[in-house]
Amino acid sequence: MTFKPDYPFDGEPAPGETREVAPGVWWLRMPLPFALNHINLWILDDGEGWTLVDTGVQNDEIKACWETIEKKHFTPEKPVKRVIVTHFHPDHVGLAGWLCERHGVELTMTLAEWTQTRMNIFEPAASKAAQMAPFYKLAGFDAEQMELVSGRGAYYSRIVSEPPARFNRIEEGDEVMVGGHAWRIIITEGHALKHACLYCADKKVLISGDQILPRITPNVSVQAQEPDSNPLKLFMDSMEKFADLPADTLVLPSHDWPFRGLHERLAHMREHHHERLEATLAACAEPATGTQVLNQLFTRKLDNHQIFFAIGESLAHVHYLMNQGRITRRLDADGAYRYEAVKEMESAA
Ligand SMILES: [Zn+2]
Repeated sequence: MTFKPDYPFDGEPAPGETREVAPGVWWLRMPLPFALNHINLWILDDGEGWTLVDTGVQNDEIKACWETIEKKHFTPEKPVKRVIVTHFHPDHVGLAGWLCERHGVELTMTLAEWTQTRMNIFEPAASKAAQMAPFYKLAGFDAEQMELVSGRGAYYSRIVSEPPARFNRIEEGDEVMVGGHAWRIIITEGHALKHACLYCADKKVLISGDQILPRITPNVSVQAQEPDSNPLKLFMDSMEKFADLPADTLVLPSHDWPFRGLHERLAHMREHHHERLEATLAACAEPATGTQVLNQLFTRKLDNHQIFFAIGESLAHVHYLMNQGRITRRLDADGAYRYEAVKEMESAA
């Protein structure tokens, strides 16, 4: 199955520019210092002010982008009223603290995402690295790769500003009123803990965050802090929550371009993961470590940042199959898990 998104807009706004994509919904695009080199943010006309959705990473370039936007859009008569953040990842929450303080407004997030942000900021780097090390050892990282883990503890707090000590909670089914229009909160799991999407029925617009992207598949990773989790199951289940949305919903994703074709995209994502599950089973035909599965699933060269996504994602597929009884796990004498596909005959018995 192939999926061709319907992109109703040609070209994205330049950094510091804005573009209206639905009545009162403006698209901003900011650079990212990663292989994935941009993020889409949204500002919503909130009557006598503006509601911001997501913020970009913390660095001087992105702050300068916001300063340009501020000069154009925000006035004393129509200031920023609120900052909503979809989830705790640095490209989304990075400047939330900075923006809230600058505009004297409050942060709105789910409890899990706000807590995770605060925890990541305040947990000492050494403690984080110590907590992560056993997880990557079990996944089969070699000595050189383990070096990368020890440098990883400080990564988050470098690119995320300190989030406010208080926040407003959003939960599944809540309706956030913005400029007289209700935006329903849809909580998804698997990419982050309790990722918030926002759907406005009046406008037929879905702010999908990282949950639904038109071309790349969102990262779904087993994390060191919850090493036996099954995030792919959570992610797949979350996709069902969009079943009742209209076929012509305009989807505003955090990466790439706004698009239509929501249900086709969801079907395509399901198919993608089923293919990856088959590839994972094949990679475990003989006992394999997490890293060996990774090497089968990701044949392209990965940088030092991407390898962490890739191992988390590989383990997510392994765990999904383990939970179905199709893969078994044992600890080997070298301190790494070995995963092995259950043979057809055995699984039928
Ligand atoms: Zn994310």
